[in-house]
Amino acid sequence: MVTFPIVRMRRLRRNETIRRMVRETTLTVNDLIYPMFVVPGEKQRQEVPSMPGVFRLSVDELVREAEEVARCQIPAVLLFGIPERKDAVGSEAYDENGIIQRAVRAIKQAVPELCVITDVCLCEYTSHGHCGILRESPNGLEVDNDATLELLAKTAVSHAAAGADMVAPSDMMDGRVKAIREALDAHGFSFVPIMSYAAKMASAFYGPFREAAESAPQFGDRRGYQMDFANKREALREIALDLEEGADIVMVKPALAYLDIIAAAREQFNVPIAAYNVSGEYAMVKAAARMGWLDEDRIVWEILTAIKRAGADLIITYFAKEIAQRL
Ligand SMILES: [Zn+2]
Repeated sequence: MVTFPIVRMRRLRRNETIRRMVRETTLTVNDLIYPMFVVPGEKQRQEVPSMPGVFRLSVDELVREAEEVARCQIPAVLLFGIPERKDAVGSEAYDENGIIQRAVRAIKQAVPELCVITDVCLCEYTSHGHCGILRESPNGLEVDNDATLELLAKTAVSHAAAGADMVAPSDMMDGRVKAIREALDAHGFSFVPIMSYAAKMASAFYGPFREAAESAPQFGDRRGYQMDFANKREALREIALDLEEGADIVMVKPALAYLDIIAAAREQFNVPIAAYNVSGEYAMVKAAARMGWLDEDRIVWEILTAIKRAGADLIITYFAKEIAQRL
């Protein structure tokens, strides 16, 4: 084998032009999806305290922001709604005049070329904050998987009817992708893709999001349906099942602590893979940068490049606008 001194790895690192020529992973604006939070009211622009630079916006402000996102050439947004009223069955999630349905119609009217993806779940809409409806079991209240599927399917259809370009179920119920696919097809929306939160961990990295989306469970936690973060084989099985049920894009969430799962999924499945660079990952960077403890611009670039290098085709990130402006 040829080795030192014939081989010198530093030759291809000598200057930025050469480094640019041999760079294996390149981040582009096409990789980015920008998550946004919609709240009721008008002229609302509420900064999320633990997520500096991220705002909860009323529909009018959301449209303005969506126009800016499109100007940055970011191809897609992912919408989360905070409803006027919550109840036990999450009614506003599938109300044709619910917060998301109004938001989708408004954005599609103002910026038709922007791909509008909607989060499909019940936790922002239920008074108890769980991702499905509850039933009594011998061990107390639990989320009723099969009864929840019907409501998730109804929610996805109402989003598609409002003009959503893609739906993204995040609840982690078994069989939801199939239920949603069948319902979309039955209502004439066979062209609407499903991006499933396929391997979604029960993670402490979601802390700031729950503040933003007001979706913290009122009792218990989500470990009965979200995945145990210790499990990689199970994550791959979840992804395989969602693909069998008809998912078009599969997501790993969170991203940064789960690069091994992204990489394994990339090896096994020939489908687009999305990774969600979640609120806690964003908040850690922002907090450390505010303290002057790290260089935000460089660290964001490094983190997003790593997520892509691991195998993600799409990165859902609150940094999308900042990165797009640099690109
Ligand atoms: Zn949920």
